[in-house]
Amino acid sequence: MHLPTVTHDLPHADLHAHPHAVSRLRAARLARSTKPFLARGGNKGERCDGCRLLPSHCMCALRPALATQAGFCLVMADIEPIKPSNTGWLIADVVPDTFAFGWARTATDPALLALLADPQWQPYVVFPGEYAAPERVVSGLLTDDGPAPVSSVPPGALRGAPHATAWAPGASEGTTERRLVRPLFVLLDATWSEARKMFRKSPYLDRLPVLSLQPEQLSRYRLRRSTRDDHFCTAEVAALCLALAGEHHAAQTLEAYLDVFTRRYLLAKQQLPLLPADAVDVRLAVLAKTGAGATALAGA
Ligand SMILES: [Zn+2]
Repeated sequence: MHLPTVTHDLPHADLHAHPHAVSRLRAARLARSTKPFLARGGNKGERCDGCRLLPSHCMCALRPALATQAGFCLVMADIEPIKPSNTGWLIADVVPDTFAFGWARTATDPALLALLADPQWQPYVVFPGEYAAPERVVSGLLTDDGPAPVSSVPPGALRGAPHATAWAPGASEGTTERRLVRPLFVLLDATWSEARKMFRKSPYLDRLPVLSLQPEQLSRYRLRRSTRDDHFCTAEVAALCLALAGEHHAAQTLEAYLDVFTRRYLLAKQQLPLLPADAVDVRLAVLAKTGAGATALAGA
């Protein structure tokens, strides 16, 4: 048996022409599964390939295009790519340089290791600092000028040392001028207990600095977003990372996009129609229109 295929009009066929990393991971995971995945909430109807919502609640037309300096590397627990509520998908929708890998304790995708070793990126594992050795923990991005706390990590603490220089700014051979190293945020897209296991049992992460979001950042974020929940979803963590990297417009756009997804996901679940001129849709449209030009203003 196969899931029903959406064969009606596809106004955003171009979005499907080049499926993003999470979309590809989802397709691969579905292909491996022996029975059709039944979405939580009992929605067995057809879903849009572009946004995973019911076609009546499709948000593909609202998808913004961002140009960001930062990239994301999603390391996803087995079931995450096929969860209809997964928000790593939304990051891949709007941040062009989003990479996604399935996590397994016993095997690591060589492409993931190659990405983490790529000198154009400065990878950070985003994780609470209390779970890592203090010398690995940073609360902001590393710069060429400022002290780079992780460079003082004794070599013995960096397992897998061959790649250790990949994240040490200015450490690569023959570099005479400053190179702009782009931040790559490694997010463990999983439940909290799975994420802790992934963090502990992925030796290739041990050599990376741990970016620990500070309590004051988190509580400010909670206040501004009136989030009652203690839990941050993956897209919210990504928005916080973008803000840390100074990409405020991108951060706000991703948040607005998440809000649209959440609204439509819940309406579809409750079998309610879309609201006309919904405030979350309007906010996203305004942000998407202001585009890159607004980045400097938003950051001011
Ligand atoms: Zn859609």
